[in-house]
Amino acid sequence: MDAIAGKEDLEGKIALVTGGSRGIGRAICLALAEAGADIAVNYNERENEAKQVCSRVEDIGGRCVAIRANVAIAADVTRMVDSVARALGEVSILVNNAGVARPQAPEEITEADWDEIMDVNLKSVFLLTQAVLPRMRAAKWGRIVNMSSAAVQLGGIIGPHYTASKAGVLGLTRAYAPLLAGEGITVNAVAPGMIATDMIADNPKARPERVPVGRFGGADEVAQAVVMLAKNGYITGQTLNVNGGLYMN
Ligand code: NAP
Repeated sequence: MDAIAGKEDLEGKIALVTGGSRGIGRAICLALAEAGADIAVNYNERENEAKQVCSRVEDIGGRCVAIRANVAIAADVTRMVDSVARALGEVSILVNNAGVARPQAPEEITEADWDEIMDVNLKSVFLLTQAVLPRMRAAKWGRIVNMSSAAVQLGGIIGPHYTASKAGVLGLTRAYAPLLAGEGITVNAVAPGMIATDMIADNPKARPERVPVGRFGGADEVAQAVVMLAKNGYITGQTLNVNGGLYMN
C-alpha cells in the first residue's frame, strides 16, 4: 500500500454509517465515499435527509443505499445488516455514530431517559458490532469506529446519562480491539468535542469561547479522523480526540 493514502485505498469496501442522515454521520458518509467506499446510510426518522446523502455519494461516484433502522432494536439491526449485504455486499467498515443527547439536569433524568440514552448510544454499538463480526472475521478484514465524546474526559454538557453511555462506548472499544487484532479487524473510538451540528445547536452551555481553538469543530473535521482510522491497519484500541484542544492526553 502507498505511504500516501489515495482514493483507491477504500475502493471495494462497504461502509455502514449509523446516523448517517445528518451532522457528523453525514460528513462521514461523504468522506468515506470520497475515499472510494460504497456507503449504507442508516437513519431513524429523516428519510429525505438520508436520501439526499445517497445522492451526494452517487455524485461522488460511489454506490449508496439508505436504510431505516432503530439501532437500539436488535431485530432492526440484523435486518439492516442483511439489507446492506444484499444491496451492496458485506459490511467491511462499521461506523457506530448514531446518538441522542438531550441536555438534562440530574434531577430531571428519569429511568426512561437513562434507558433510552443507553440503548441508542451504547447498546447499539454492541448490537451492530455483533451483527457485522461474523462477516468481517470471514473476510479477515474490518474497521470499526465508535463515536464517543470529550464528555467522558470532561464531564460534558448534556448530563450524567449521556456521559456514562459514551464511557461505555470506550469500554466496548477497548474490549473488542484486542480480541480482534489478530484477525485483521481494528476497533477504535473518536471522541469529538463541540461540533457544529443539530445536537449542540440549542445547548446554552455549548459556547465556542470555551474551546482553545476558539470555534466549534466542523463535522468534516471529525470525518477526516474516521477516514484515517478506516485506512489504517495498525491503530487499534485507541481513542482519537477531535476537540479543538478542550482535553489533551
Ligand atoms: P445529530 O446531528 O443529532 O444526528 C444524530 C444522528 O443519529 C441522525 O442521523 C439520527 O437519525 C441518528 N439517530 C438518532 N437516534 C437513532 C436511532 N435510534 N437509530 C438510528 N439512528 C439514530 O448528531 P451529531 O452531532 O452528528 O452526533 C453524531 C455522534 O457524535 C453522536 O453519537 C453524538 O453523541 C456524537 N458526538 C457529537 C458531538 C457534537 O458536539 N455534535 C460531540 C461529541 C460526540 P435521524 O436523522 O433519522 O433522526
